[in-house]
Amino acid sequence: MIPQTRTTRLAPSPTGGLHLGNARSFLLNWALGRKAGWSIRMRMDDLDTERCSVEAEETLLASLAWLGIDHDGPIIRQRATPAHHRMALERLSEAGLIFACDRSRRDLRAAAEALGAPHESGTNLVSTPAMRPEDRAAWGLQDGPLNHRLALEPGEEVVEDALLGTRSFDPLERFGDPILWTRRDTAAYHLASVVDDLERGVTDVVRGEDLLPSAALHQRLCRLLGADPPRWWHLPLMLDHQGRRLAKRDGDLTMSTLRQRGVPPERVIGLLARTSGVQETTEPMSIEDFVQALDVRALTEWARAESREGGYRLLPEELDWLERRTT
Ligand code: GLU
Repeated sequence: MIPQTRTTRLAPSPTGGLHLGNARSFLLNWALGRKAGWSIRMRMDDLDTERCSVEAEETLLASLAWLGIDHDGPIIRQRATPAHHRMALERLSEAGLIFACDRSRRDLRAAAEALGAPHESGTNLVSTPAMRPEDRAAWGLQDGPLNHRLALEPGEEVVEDALLGTRSFDPLERFGDPILWTRRDTAAYHLASVVDDLERGVTDVVRGEDLLPSAALHQRLCRLLGADPPRWWHLPLMLDHQGRRLAKRDGDLTMSTLRQRGVPPERVIGLLARTSGVQETTEPMSIEDFVQALDVRALTEWARAESREGGYRLLPEELDWLERRTT
């Protein structure tokens, strides 16, 4: 019998530089994979042609390589596989679950409320009994170059996260009837991410905790497509010292900037190890030692504690240490 390999993926959106927070998630994802012998694929989430660029992709790949984060097999680009995405959309459409719509989520909610929708928070107009053909037209539910939304049933989805434990979300409450296909005629994030993970046999999805509610939707989508969801591992986010999420606007915390300023990758890895419970003191660390020191049980404890705090707040002295302004 062929041994079953587990597979994970690093899935950056090539829209800007790689900041410390994303670097930490990718490093942990990669190290979990290498430690457990998973296959590690690299997938560019590049469907948003307005925000993604070749330059950003090059910078991202160079930054990951600088840290020592590699991957197996060729790079997958979401833009290159529209046929898979379209087939999934058609399958859901055949099941009567897709409706074309030019309205925002807020409009849909208002329409559902005006029609006395059976559930308070939902915007699922398709399953609203009060929805008559003339209402559909009035609310823009017609064909044309429109977004296509998934008609979700209300109901909790229990996410068993390997790190954060059992969490539960109602995808309809969180996302309304989510857009799966955009008016630009490409798959939207939720559909593309789920379909690509299924197509590539991804068994373990490791990513930031901001996407934990999305896991509930992704799980529902997997089931609607007749597939089992992957195992989820959501990692707490890194925050600045004021408690704001690190974002691409924090340009001075990107790998390219740190590299230009002469910060060695071992320092970055040392800091990422300290801020994720992989080492107790703030010392430079090689990527090999990071893999060695990573312990899933300790990571789980760290992730749960940090998730309760809402993420890890980077201290100014940690940034000073990174730049060797203090010893
Ligand atoms: N490309 C997405 C992001 O950068 C991650 C998608 C995913 O992990 O599902 O936020």
